Amino acid sequence: MTAHRRFRNVTRIGPVQVGTAYDHRGREKHTTACTAPRCNFSADYDSRAAAELAARTHRCLVR
Ligand SMILES: [Zn+2]
Repeated sequence: MTAHRRFRNVTRIGPVQVGTAYDHRGREKHTTACTAPRCNFSADYDSRAAAELAARTHRCLVR
């Protein structure tokens, strides 16, 4: 997760955090980021639903 972005509506689904932020163009981005130490899963989505679905279906490498 990029540190300089400000996330709001941060929720956690399993080990994955989902947050909403504005990108540099002022558009909403929905980002998922796994908090497990050695898992580098993170991705941006155009909709919150897509981000939450990705978080729910994430199969973490670290258990
Ligand atoms: Zn993970």
